[in-house]
Amino acid sequence: MDFDRALNEIHPAWSQFLAVEAAHLPDSARPDFDAETQAYFTAIRQALTSGAHDALLTLVERWYERDTLGMAGIETSTLPDLLTRLWQYFFAAAQGLPERETAAALTNACLPLCCTTIVHATRREGDTRVARVSDELEQARESLERLDRSKSDFIAIAAHELKTPLTLIDGYAAMLRDLRDEPVADATAQAQLDILLYGIANGTRRLREIVDDMIDVSMIDNNLLSLHFQPVWLKQLLEIILQEFAPVARERRLSLYLEPFPGCEEMFFGDAERLYQALRNLVANAIKYTPDHGQIALRGRKLSGFVEVTIQDTGIGIDPADHARIFEKFSRVGSPALHSTGKTKFKGGGPGLGLPITKGIIEAHGGAIWVESDGHDEINLPGATFHVLIPLRKEPPDERIARLFQVSGLAGEAQRSAAGAAHPTQSGG
Ligand code: ADP
Repeated sequence: MDFDRALNEIHPAWSQFLAVEAAHLPDSARPDFDAETQAYFTAIRQALTSGAHDALLTLVERWYERDTLGMAGIETSTLPDLLTRLWQYFFAAAQGLPERETAAALTNACLPLCCTTIVHATRREGDTRVARVSDELEQARESLERLDRSKSDFIAIAAHELKTPLTLIDGYAAMLRDLRDEPVADATAQAQLDILLYGIANGTRRLREIVDDMIDVSMIDNNLLSLHFQPVWLKQLLEIILQEFAPVARERRLSLYLEPFPGCEEMFFGDAERLYQALRNLVANAIKYTPDHGQIALRGRKLSGFVEVTIQDTGIGIDPADHARIFEKFSRVGSPALHSTGKTKFKGGGPGLGLPITKGIIEAHGGAIWVESDGHDEINLPGATFHVLIPLRKEPPDERIARLFQVSGLAGEAQRSAAGAAHPTQSGG
C-alpha cells in the first residue's frame, strides 16, 4: 500500500496534537521542538517506505547523543514518555482517516516501528540511568575513601601534634621533680627553674591552641560559629599581626611588610578577633612555607562593597590541583611532614586546620577566600597569593550592636572599641 498519501492526510492532525504539546514549552524552545518532531514524522515516512527502522532509531540516538531535544527544554529522561505520546498522536490522527481500511493498514504497519523505538528509548534510558547511578556510587565511594584517609591522617597528625607538647611538658616536669629537693637560693638555680616553667607553659599553650583549633573546626562544621560584630579597622589588625611576627621574620631573614591600600583604614563591622585569627593564619602559613630570605607582602584594594586583602609570599607554592583541597580539614598536601612541628619554622608541620578555620571565618562574614599559585616547586619557589574578600559592612548586624556602639555617634565610640579590638586573644593557625 502507498502510505505516502495517508501520511500527508494525517500530518495536519498530528501537527495539531504537537502544537498542544509545545504549548507547555517556553517560546524559545518551540522552534527546536517543532523541527525535531517534524524530523520524527519524516523518519516514520522513510521507515514505512524502506521497511527498515534505521531512520527512526538514528533520530532517537541523536536525541540522546547530541541532546538536541535538550535544546527544546526536554530532558532525555522523559524521552520514552514523549515517544509514547508522539505515537499516541500518530495513531489518533490515523483513526481520523476517512478510509477505515487505510487507517487499519497504516496502524498495522506502524505498530512494529512504535514498539521498536519505544523499547529502544526505554533501554537507552535504562542504560543512562544505570551509568548515572554507578557514577554517583563511584563518587560516593571516592569521597568515603577520602574521608577515611583524612580520618587516618587526622589520627596520625593529631597524635603527633599532641605528643610533641606533651613530651615537652613531661620532660620539663621530670626536670622540675629532680630539682625539687635542691634549694633555689641562688640566681642560676632560679633561672633554671624559670626555663623549666617556661617550657611547661609553652607546651600547654601549644596544646591549648591545637584543642582550640579542633573546637573551631567543629563549630564551623556544625554552623555554630557565632561572630561578635564590632567596628574593625583592617590596617590595625594587619599591623598587630606584623608586629607579632616581626621577631620571627628577623630571625628567618624574611621581608614581611604591609603596603597600605585604599579601604584598609575604613571602619566596618566584623568580628575583630576572628578576622585577626584568619589573617594571622595566612601570614603564619606564608612564613612557614617561605624559605629564609623570602618576601611576604600584605596588600589589598577596595572593591564595591568589599575590601580585598592579599597575602603574597615567595615560598614553595601550591600545586593548582590542591588549591581547593588545602581548605579542607586535615588536608596537608604532599607528604605530611611529621618530622618538625612549628608555627613558623620553614615547612614546620601543623594539624592542617588553619585554612579550613580561616575559610570558615571569612565565609561566616559573607566573604570569600582563594589561592593563586603556579605550582609547588621547592627549588624555583613560585610563591602563593591568598586572596581574602571581606564585606565592608557599614551597618551593625542588629539593633543591639547598633545601640552598643551608638552608631549615630560612631566615630568616638568606635574609636574606643577599636582599642579593645586591637588586643584580640591569639589562637590557632
Ligand atoms: P597546616 O597546619 O598544615 O599549615 P593549613 O590548613 O594552614 O594547615 O594549610 C594546609 C596546607 O596548605 C599546608 O599543609 C600546606 O601544604 C598548604 N599551604 C598553606 N599555605 C601555604 C603557603 N602560603 N604556601 C604553600 N603552601 C601552603
